Amino acid sequence: MNEDWVRQLDARQRAMLAEMGVKVWAPKARTAPVEPTATSPDMPLPRTQPEAAPARPAPLAAPETPSVRAPTSTPLPPATPVRADRAGIATLDWPALREAVAGCQACGLCASRRNTVFGVGHTQADWMIVGEAPGEQEDRQGEPFVGAAGQLLDAMLRACGRARSSEETGRGVYIANVLKCRPPANRNPAPEEVLQCEPFLARQVALVRPKLIIAMGRFAVQSLLKTTEPIGRLRGRVHHYEGVPVIVTYHPAYLLRTPIDKAKAWADLCLAMDQ
Ligand code: URA
Repeated sequence: MNEDWVRQLDARQRAMLAEMGVKVWAPKARTAPVEPTATSPDMPLPRTQPEAAPARPAPLAAPETPSVRAPTSTPLPPATPVRADRAGIATLDWPALREAVAGCQACGLCASRRNTVFGVGHTQADWMIVGEAPGEQEDRQGEPFVGAAGQLLDAMLRACGRARSSEETGRGVYIANVLKCRPPANRNPAPEEVLQCEPFLARQVALVRPKLIIAMGRFAVQSLLKTTEPIGRLRGRVHHYEGVPVIVTYHPAYLLRTPIDKAKAWADLCLAMDQ
């Protein structure tokens, strides 16, 4: 990256970068560019706290049951997905949509989730953040981005003068994931799971009607933009989803592992703020 921009930063911009954990005043010697590897942004994003898959509860357990059943000696049968009317999702209002997500059994993830993770923030926000899928903490708490990646996301939002709670800034964001249920052991979302869950995200976007969507990470980008192009090639320009401008950037979990790319993420946020 051309580093002239570092010399041109004013005090406020430096403060914003500091908020994101980017130390622009002491740039390190050039590090070799990150090649696409299993930990690169265009590759699967292992979550921050991988753990063993939770014990599988009975298939028709109440969806919001907070605890995992003790393992039994008799293996449980695999969950039988119950397909709801996916097309009908497009007409639901907020309470009905939340209820539909909470009771969803369209894919096998319903069997291992503790909680569905619907979304959080201002329902009329002008920015919408789209992530990948709940991790362990999100599955426990039923709220997106509450783990380590979420703390970085909050810092990134603060740097833009926004917060997940609109009371904090008055401007707000709405935060949602492509998947509403945690994939066991934080594995990547499967295509069938994305397919089944997409109508929920589409309805959230339609209800929020944001002025801008920030797609974070490969799965958000692929789901919204229907492309397999790597993030590195999609960054830096404005895309569209259902007429809403979309900015593509790295997932906060990737940035935690690859802090050198925080500067690129900051450039993406600057592009977002310019819209
Ligand atoms: N990663 C995501 O993409 N979403 C979350 O909610 C948490 C981690």
